[in-house]
Amino acid sequence: MRIGTGYDSHRFAEGRPLILGGVRIPDHAGLSGHSDGDAVAHAVIDALLGAAAAGNVGSHFPPTDDRWKDADSMELLRRAVQVLEGRNYQVVNVDVTVVCESPKIGPWVDAMRDALGAVLRIGPGGVSVKGKTNERMGWIGR
Ligand code: MG
Repeated sequence: MRIGTGYDSHRFAEGRPLILGGVRIPDHAGLSGHSDGDAVAHAVIDALLGAAAAGNVGSHFPPTDDRWKDADSMELLRRAVQVLEGRNYQVVNVDVTVVCESPKIGPWVDAMRDALGAVLRIGPGGVSVKGKTNERMGWIGR
């Protein structure tokens, strides 16, 4: 049994869709990034690769590589699972905390659990997603 942690942060960017955990959240500014900016997917990738000591999202999908420009991060996650499987690991569960003042994550939690659980092949029962605000404190709060 190995456990990894992942973390990611992205700036908001007007004119881009907001995609978190593979779910398109309407009526909200998206996140900047070389790929689709799905910070939840990126953090999960880092946690999985970290657990396997198999690199990180940047080493597998570098932003200098045009292949990953505007990439579907859930496809990157699928590839990360393949890296783990190539090392005879399998994902058991993931636990995600999304920290932001807006949007409210609650209404999208089940859709994210479904989407992540499908790609990870552990189903929604293996995926926890929780939203937290930063109580308007600090750079996250702003
Ligand atoms: Mg990222």
